[in-house]
Amino acid sequence: MKAQLIDGKLVAKNVRRSLSHRIEALKAFGVVPGLAAVLVGEDPASATYVNSKAKACDKLGLYSDVIRRPASLSQEHLLDIVRKLNDDERIHGILVQSPLPPQIDELAVTLVIRPEKDVDGFHPQNVGMLLIGRPNLIPCTPHGIIKLLEYYRIDPSGKEVVVVGRSNIVGKPVAALLMQKAGMANATVTVAHSRSKNLPEIIRRAEIVIAAIGRPGTITADMIRDGAVIIDVGVNRVYDPTTEKGYRLVGDVDFNGCCDKASFISPVPGGVGPMTIAMLMANTVTAAENITAASKQPCHE
Ligand code: NAP
Repeated sequence: MKAQLIDGKLVAKNVRRSLSHRIEALKAFGVVPGLAAVLVGEDPASATYVNSKAKACDKLGLYSDVIRRPASLSQEHLLDIVRKLNDDERIHGILVQSPLPPQIDELAVTLVIRPEKDVDGFHPQNVGMLLIGRPNLIPCTPHGIIKLLEYYRIDPSGKEVVVVGRSNIVGKPVAALLMQKAGMANATVTVAHSRSKNLPEIIRRAEIVIAAIGRPGTITADMIRDGAVIIDVGVNRVYDPTTEKGYRLVGDVDFNGCCDKASFISPVPGGVGPMTIAMLMANTVTAAENITAASKQPCHE
């Protein structure tokens, strides 16, 4: 079998296109959805992510603001920045780019973001709503994965799904989404991690494998069942002197090896990555709609 490629760039373009009428409707109300990104320190990968998020906002006609601060920023100063953004009417979505310097407690920052503006979907209120099946702002990468499956008509209902990785930003929320009693869900989900015994045996059960590990080539063809769908979330830099940058990006899956066995496979780059930014744009528009609707509600004493 030669796997069909899951084209994240194409699906992300569709998601962005579907947002344009919602953005126009908000603009007709005098509201331009706005996203603020806070970047602390000079980590080059983080700077690239934040720049691409701001660029995506520009392309869609959203307002964006990037707040850059040195790595020496204190926790209290960062919390003040977030509090100001909470009160800023131009801003509907707030993201604080991780990783943050060691003096900063990431959870404390997440807790200060108003849940209505938490476009990363990391605030415990949003995490809890997702878990009880009433999601509002859904973490972008897991939501992007569901949208990829939906586009390619891969219905997880009743299927064995193995998620490898249990992070709060990918593994846990994607497992929570897929186990819901809902459309594009109803899967039988197993979550594996570094302490799982017999990982190959667990993965071989899967009709859908989601790899969010952060280690290149961890999942190989011998671990894959014939016809499995493979979603590779991993983004790993591997040394490659033949490239201009001296490295290239690869996923957690041995792409070439698994191509002949899988029915669908997402590449790295060009698979899940573009979806993450598209879903961030979608969350910013959703947040702007919700905040605008709430402000139009009549006040009751
Ligand atoms: P993370 O927080 O480091 O979590 C990695 C998970 O993988 C952990 O649960 C860990 O287990 C598990 N793991 C590590 N080695 C393993 C092994 N040999 N076998 C089985 N499980 C193993 O990483 P993350 O934030 O979820 O990110 C995962 C990858 O996705 C990274 O490459 C990241 O860059 C990428 N990513 C991509 C996007 C995108 O937009 N494309 C977005 C987010 C993340 P323990 O819990 O036991 O340590």
